[in-house]
Amino acid sequence: MKPKEHRPIDKKIFDIVDWGEKQSGHICELCGNPGVLRNDDWLMVRCDECWKKYR
Ligand SMILES: [Zn+2]
Repeated sequence: MKPKEHRPIDKKIFDIVDWGEKQSGHICELCGNPGVLRNDDWLMVRCDECWKKYR
């Protein structure tokens, strides 16, 4: 039995971190306005308006 190079869980975590870095300083996921990366239990990009509204 050959060892697997990438366990699925590791790949998943890597993808999330990579995604977060790409989203940093980009646009709000909800409305498309300029937003910033927020970290509140989860990494997300929100503008100020959506951040206040949905948090
Ligand atoms: Zn927004």
